[in-house]
Amino acid sequence: MRPSGAASHLSLFERPGEFSRTLPGTGRGESPRLRPAGAYHRRMRAWAAAAVVLGVLLLAAGSAVAAAALGVRIVPPAPRQGDVAVVFVAGAQGARQVEGSLGGRALAFFPYGEGWAALAGIDLEARPGKTPWRIGVVDAGGQGRQLRGSATIRARRFPVQRLTLPGHMVDLDPETERRAESESARLRTLYETATPERLWRGRFTRPVGTEGKGEGFGARRIINGQPRMPHSGLDFSAERGTPVVAANRGRVALVADFFFPGLLVALDHGLGLYTLYMHLDRVDVAEGARVERGEPIGAVGASGRATGPHLHFAAQVRQARVDPAALFGVPLGD
Ligand SMILES: [Zn+2]
Repeated sequence: MRPSGAASHLSLFERPGEFSRTLPGTGRGESPRLRPAGAYHRRMRAWAAAAVVLGVLLLAAGSAVAAAALGVRIVPPAPRQGDVAVVFVAGAQGARQVEGSLGGRALAFFPYGEGWAALAGIDLEARPGKTPWRIGVVDAGGQGRQLRGSATIRARRFPVQRLTLPGHMVDLDPETERRAESESARLRTLYETATPERLWRGRFTRPVGTEGKGEGFGARRIINGQPRMPHSGLDFSAERGTPVVAANRGRVALVADFFFPGLLVALDHGLGLYTLYMHLDRVDVAEGARVERGEPIGAVGASGRATGPHLHFAAQVRQARVDPAALFGVPLGD
């Protein structure tokens, strides 16, 4: 079964929902505007070079100890909806604790180079415009410093896909509706859990060896005239049986066979970062197992609600639904 107007296979597990903003554009003919990884890296480097370092010395009044200036740098400084930004903190060497938030989401910092870093997920439906951030540092002597500012979230133009499908593929009976709701609640509970150890290292790798760059992240889908929740992953068309590999080091947090996603694997990379692999034909790993980047975890299939064999690959950072392609461009070396 192929949907009308679609070039390749896709997932159909977006539940009915309201769009949070006015629909952009008219739909047909628009395509996802994803940049290739090379361009993404160049853009990241350009942003890094242009980023303004905000060095502000916030010493408590009367303190006789000169602390290094606390600097915060956000790369990219003006992330788009669905981006994964990196928040770098300098001047906090030897700190007992570094914590903070951006856009109301907690940041999980880890030591990086001479300083600290945290991934900040910008949800695909984050409100464009200025959003506050706050960084708090407790130094080795127990003294606290804080820095506040704001970042600008840029709107991104997402494609609109209008699909016409047989009613039985779209309308659910009450029992199936309840099952689907309890399954998505289970996934939400998983994403709420931020395990304290950072398991991922270095670059994120593509989960399938196909040529295509993945389609449909953020697509607003209108199925049989009814708006659905935005599509929160990338669909990679591939033949059934194509190996699926872990995008980075992690722990298998969930193996399940759910109604919409079908056979799925969720990898916990630590600090609230998860990657999801759905519509699988086969799973080769067990819950609790540690996997390395590039290690096979299963095979492409069409399980669950899918129009044909493809991998639905998604990522969440502290419950923000982010573009997995943005993960491939995270500018961290280890
Ligand atoms: Zn999908």
